[in-house]
Amino acid sequence: MLYTVDPDHLASVCPDEPPYRARQLREWLYRHPVLETQQMTNLPGSLRDRLELWPFELEADQSADGGRTRKWLFRTGDGAAIEAVLMGYPDRTTLCISSQAGCAMACTFCATGQFGFERHLEAGEITAQVAFAKAFLDEYGMPNSPHRLTNVVFMGMGEPLANYTHVRESLHRMIDLMGMSARAITVSTVGFVPGMRRLADEPWKVNLAVSLHAADDELRSSLVPLNERYSLAEVIEASRHYFKVKGRRISIEWTLIDGTNDSVDQARKLAEIAHDLRAHVNVIALNPTPLSADLPPSADRVAVFMDELRYEGVNATLRDTRGQDIDAACGQLRVHSEGTPIRIDRAVLEAR
Ligand code: SAH
Repeated sequence: MLYTVDPDHLASVCPDEPPYRARQLREWLYRHPVLETQQMTNLPGSLRDRLELWPFELEADQSADGGRTRKWLFRTGDGAAIEAVLMGYPDRTTLCISSQAGCAMACTFCATGQFGFERHLEAGEITAQVAFAKAFLDEYGMPNSPHRLTNVVFMGMGEPLANYTHVRESLHRMIDLMGMSARAITVSTVGFVPGMRRLADEPWKVNLAVSLHAADDELRSSLVPLNERYSLAEVIEASRHYFKVKGRRISIEWTLIDGTNDSVDQARKLAEIAHDLRAHVNVIALNPTPLSADLPPSADRVAVFMDELRYEGVNATLRDTRGQDIDAACGQLRVHSEGTPIRIDRAVLEAR
């Protein structure tokens, strides 16, 4: 399981080989990720046969939107489910990754939160999702989109800042070893204030997205239980600090729920916060989840909310609800029923 080995200690997996093997391995893992060890052409056959590349098996590979949305369910040896979603757009190809199996934050409208926490993902398990997408794109590309990975967002399962050490190490691997630009990476948080502050101290200018969903404490606490611990004012203050230190605009995430946080009054309060932080606002209409009766507002109500934000001069985008039909949309990722794990190789991906 090469991706869970410390990149500086790759020699430990091939102790009988000359020292340059570790370097070659590192190149393959982080510079030119491939789907199978057999593609590591400069390694001896015996090594290619023996080494295990991925820390998980691919349990499901689903595609939607004409092949421009692809959801992968990976299963680790200890049974943890990891989901990642690849999305192609005309100008970018974005991978949405998971930082935890399950999530402990229990946001009422999020499927992952409804099913609870399983465990933290290790740095190697987080990085491997990115490497897998790179290797996949290298071989198959993405219709009408860049054939290489341009962006990574921590918007899959889990609260990345509650798994700080491993997420930090995965950022180091993506940026320093894989050569990704920090600006191409977005860490999305429910408002885990200590993590926001630690991230501000890191050397990288990664984007920070803050999932606000409500513009007053009472409403926010009813949607996001963590708000009881870190209030709106504290989350706003930590966001302001991040913006000040990094000079990177924060984005505020807002999942619109019918009759809950879609009022003109909330839009006005949100506009004030956005102005104050000079933040960009990403609105997404709720994707329905199994354990909640919440619904997205009608298209008209969504339009009224967006109009109000824009009228107030807020830089706001309505995000599409990609991948709903394969439960790949925001908030729909969760631990799935048992499937039959399949080894990762091209035959599997081609058969789909
Ligand atoms: N824990 C982090 C990252 C994972 S959630 C966070 O909270 O930001 C990624 C985004 O999906 C968040 O903005 C979250 O609020 C949003 N989301 C969760 N459930 C959703 C749902 N059912 N419909 C639409 N967006 C949802």
